[in-house]
Amino acid sequence: MVSSFADVVDAAGRIAGYAHRTPVLGSRIVDEVVGARVLFKCENFQRMGAFKFRGAFNAVSRLSARQREAGVVTYSSGNHSQAIALAARLLDVRATIVMPHDAPAAKVAATKGYGGRVVGYDRYAEDRAEIGRALAEEEGLTLIPPYDHPDVLAGQGTAAKELFDEVGELDALFVPLGGGGLLSGSALAARALSPRCRVYGVEPAAGDDGRRSLRGGEIVRIDTPRTIADGAQTEQLGAHTFEVIRRDVDDVLTASDDELVEAMRLFASYLKIVVEPTGCLGLAAARDLPDDLRGKRIGVIISGGNVDLERYAALLAPA
Ligand SMILES: *Cc1c(COP(=O)(O)O)cnc(C)c1O
Repeated sequence: MVSSFADVVDAAGRIAGYAHRTPVLGSRIVDEVVGARVLFKCENFQRMGAFKFRGAFNAVSRLSARQREAGVVTYSSGNHSQAIALAARLLDVRATIVMPHDAPAAKVAATKGYGGRVVGYDRYAEDRAEIGRALAEEEGLTLIPPYDHPDVLAGQGTAAKELFDEVGELDALFVPLGGGGLLSGSALAARALSPRCRVYGVEPAAGDDGRRSLRGGEIVRIDTPRTIADGAQTEQLGAHTFEVIRRDVDDVLTASDDELVEAMRLFASYLKIVVEPTGCLGLAAARDLPDDLRGKRIGVIISGGNVDLERYAALLAPA
């Protein structure tokens, strides 16, 4: 069954009191740069530093007593790992996390800090889903994938729901896109709360599988894209996420690594906030605004703020 806005509303009830209701920020200077009134939903201020806590907590809290007893396993380029580790700890469940050897050090450290057991793999040579499935089978764990799961995508949709609840209807919404959990959940919220709002996914230019999937009508799989947007280095959309995306998303746009760095600079300069490269996808695409959105009210989801400070400084340093 295709997920619905009712699932997002249920998720909002489950995460209430555990997830932060993150602030909505704006900047007159950024409005001028973009050419529209831009309202940023700041999930860089979410618990563990990204929206992923919403979907993870919703999914873990839906498990049976027996499943909780056995524990959960997941695989992720980073933020979902931390999210599962934290959600599991809050709900008193053991978590095993399959993470790439080259994941940002801050993300690995945070995952371990939340009490997660980390199992490493080579992101360019090994299949993380395969490793996750094997662990689930051997140890009786419940696998909670990073995006292709109805409870995960419903949880992710609560960020956009909060945005519309707070600011009312919008003319367009720009959402970072990896496997599509955040985008599909956001689209469900938009269709229910702001039916005329155009919904755009934004993915790294190095891997435009989402755009090709939406335009071609079937899921396109690519090799792991090489981009600084490590939260969106996915090879394909999920079956659950694509069902919603193909129905409720207007288009998928792309942003280059240089454009992401420019957006990071704008966030630091004018909103005074640290945003990780993947979290900059929405603003990067909004800067190339379609003409008919000029002067309108648009929403941008800042998906996360987890970036090693050394890496952040190196990305912003003049070449
Ligand atoms: C996971 C992640 C994304 C992509 O989310 P999907 O649900 O996989 O599309 C975007 N930004 C950040 C910061 C993330 O951690």
